[in-house]
Amino acid sequence: MAALAAALPSSPATAKAAVSSSVAPPCFLAYPSRLRNASRVAVRTAQVSTAETAEPAAAAAAPVKEKKISKKQDEGVVTNKYRPKEPYVGRCLLNTRITGDNAPGETWHMVFSTEGEIPYREGQSIGVIADGEDKNGKPHKLRLYSIASSALGDFGDSKTVSLCVKRLVYTNDAGEVVKGVCSNFLCDLKPGAEVKITGPVGKEMLMPKDPNATIIMLGTGTGIAPFRSFLWKIFFEEHEDYKVSTNCLN
Ligand SMILES: Cc1cc2nc3c(=O)[nH]c(=O)nc-3n(C[C@H](O)[C@H](O)[C@H](O)COP(=O)(O)OP(=O)(O)OC[C@H]3O[C@@H](n4cnc5c(N)ncnc54)[C@H](O)[C@@H]3O)c2cc1C
Repeated sequence: MAALAAALPSSPATAKAAVSSSVAPPCFLAYPSRLRNASRVAVRTAQVSTAETAEPAAAAAAPVKEKKISKKQDEGVVTNKYRPKEPYVGRCLLNTRITGDNAPGETWHMVFSTEGEIPYREGQSIGVIADGEDKNGKPHKLRLYSIASSALGDFGDSKTVSLCVKRLVYTNDAGEVVKGVCSNFLCDLKPGAEVKITGPVGKEMLMPKDPNATIIMLGTGTGIAPFRSFLWKIFFEEHEDYKVSTNCLN
């Protein structure tokens, strides 16, 4: 599974910074209508780098330098508040299967209580430690899951976090059916059950600060999870700094 978010700059001034990408486990391709402008923006970016090059011939031969992403975007973003040794213990408030009976595989949408203790941003992930022990009698290692809710949470009170989880079940070489530890733990969670959460983690896929940025969202499978959080914030909630222009809705 894989997810990729690219924020294209809206002006030459921001052209140096705004490309953010990340690979996360998730088959879905989202082309917001903003994508129609992508080639125009990409050309503009190319023009900026050409204009800044004093010696075009030398520049063509020079190795391409990796552009640094502004750290300002990271300001105030909390990471690793909760670690595996002392995880936050939340409760499952809701767990719903979101794939149909005939779908290949099972995916669930779940909401956990946080009481506001996990201050995450759209684009971050949390870790989950499944109950029980591994084959060596040790606690299970955490698995990462992309946060699927906006920072306000599905109930709008900043006291919940949501995930979109695919149940992993496969047949191994010996012909045995194997169930993934954490995905099955999560998909089987009943409302009221406790869940050990770590994080939040990740600064690579945060939403761009530039209010005019073009966002291209590519995700496969549950790779759409972080984009649900983006779309929820952009379209459903009313934020001064995230408005969608009408040409984007055509
Ligand atoms: C940043 C990040 C974000 C993620 N976000 C999400 C998300 O939003 N939603 C989501 O559902 N998952 C997500 N994942 C994946 C998630 O972390 C787990 O890897 C996944 O749920 C499987 O964990 P598990 O404990 O169920 O399986 P495990 O018990 O860990 O088993 C997984 C292992 O089983 C083996 N295996 C799996 N399939 C096969 C096969 N077909 N044949 C043979 N062996 C196989 C492999 O060895 C694999 O490593 C994310 C991962 C990362 C790194």
